[in-house]
Amino acid sequence: MKDLVANQRFFFNSHATKDIRYRIQQLACLENVLNTNIKLLDKAIYDDFKKSSFENYLTEIGLVLHDIKQAKKKLARWSSKQKVKTNFGNFPATSYTIPEPLGVTLIISSWNYPYQLSLAPIVAAIAAGNTIIVKPSEISPQTSNVMATILNEAFDPNFLKVIQGGVQQTTELLKQKFDKIFFTGSTTVGKIVYKAAAAHLTPVTLELGGKSPVFITKDANIKMAAKRIVWGKFLNAGQTCIAPDYIYIDAQVSDAFLKAAKIEIEKAGYSFKNNNYVQIINDRNFDRLTAMLDSTKIYHGGDSNREQRYIAPTILQDVCLDDPIMQQEVFGPILPVLTFTDLDTAVRNVQLLPKPLSCYVFTSSNQVKKKIIKEISFGGGAINDTIMHISNPNLPFGGVGSSGFGRYHGKAGFDAFSNFKSILDKPTWYESSLKYAPYTQKKLAIIKKLLKNQ
Ligand code: NAD
Repeated sequence: MKDLVANQRFFFNSHATKDIRYRIQQLACLENVLNTNIKLLDKAIYDDFKKSSFENYLTEIGLVLHDIKQAKKKLARWSSKQKVKTNFGNFPATSYTIPEPLGVTLIISSWNYPYQLSLAPIVAAIAAGNTIIVKPSEISPQTSNVMATILNEAFDPNFLKVIQGGVQQTTELLKQKFDKIFFTGSTTVGKIVYKAAAAHLTPVTLELGGKSPVFITKDANIKMAAKRIVWGKFLNAGQTCIAPDYIYIDAQVSDAFLKAAKIEIEKAGYSFKNNNYVQIINDRNFDRLTAMLDSTKIYHGGDSNREQRYIAPTILQDVCLDDPIMQQEVFGPILPVLTFTDLDTAVRNVQLLPKPLSCYVFTSSNQVKKKIIKEISFGGGAINDTIMHISNPNLPFGGVGSSGFGRYHGKAGFDAFSNFKSILDKPTWYESSLKYAPYTQKKLAIIKKLLKNQ
């Protein structure tokens, strides 16, 4: 790993990646690798957790291909210098910022969207002109393996290299000095990564998790809320960082919502046979999730099969804030429903929890929309929808507090892997004598006046 990092650094210092044409070429190469290996990619993700090719395109490869297309089109503009105003004291200079790549970067990713969570940061890192070492998750071995095979074959390892492994390999990688670490995973491991990065003063982006709430008020369109929440919750069997974690609903419309959500689940007919439902990734997560199935609170679902790592889409009712399911991120197909009689109290309760990655509100009241956005701190979210904010590349994606920091997707991804140099460019034909000794009261008066008027 030491040699790999040293070789990448040597290559980076050759300035090859600073050429925009080189970056576009590498992005085109990635696009080609994905398009030509789509069958292999589909098979591996099916083997890891029975995800269908439809969903693989919708939630993984399609998004990455779109990212590549956008980066190829826009990266010349993103890389150009941006003029800013020059203050009077620097007359007659010009001022601008110009991005430069950070250098040798490390991307560590999670298993739940194994392609997207490795490849989207890769697209951003390539666009910004860095070299890249990627460490996908060992928890989804087939997808990690196929990425290692096809990417390591297509790319020069001095530019892009996939390393496979678990804690031991990642720990070894983290001892090396990188110029940027981009981590997606749990808050617990995020802290380990942050600490390791601090030893080298390496900047990090941490894309972490948390419990993303959904507020529903009594004036909401309940049918539409149920449809969009059920889709967002049971997509990928709830193994989505921005999945609705729990519902916080006005008690007056709780029954109507429960009934509507049950209808939506039945309509979708989630099953492995239909290719529209996925497995729980491993036995450990299966056991963790089934332990949350409080039989006294099951409104719908509750079936499970350990051999198949299947847990039916499940709704729990009458859930309280102290219940075990409210003490950890669910990250699976179990939807706890809590009720409130007073929105202010509900908002205050959520304010006391760690800051979530996402927050959703279903309401027709502009006042409620404003209240939620103003009073709850979260990474990003949607009004009258779930999950879909991630599909807009113009919305920077990331967390806040314990759900992480830093942003990516689209231009924000380019920015995350760039250093913006600030430059003042001054001609030599004029120089004011104001700042130079001998200092006089007259000079000071002029300086004060100039600063006051700026
Ligand atoms: P994880 O933190 O266990 O693993 C993430 C990565 O860290 C893996 O590549 C793993 O090999 C590595 N790792 C694990 N333990 C390590 C250690 N001790 N030292 C160094 N590296 C280590 O997380 P996970 O189970 O893969 O993912 C689940 C979590 O990730 C959830 O909380 C979820 O919300 C979050 N997540 C967040 C996003 C986001 O975009 N914010 C996306 C997906 C998942």
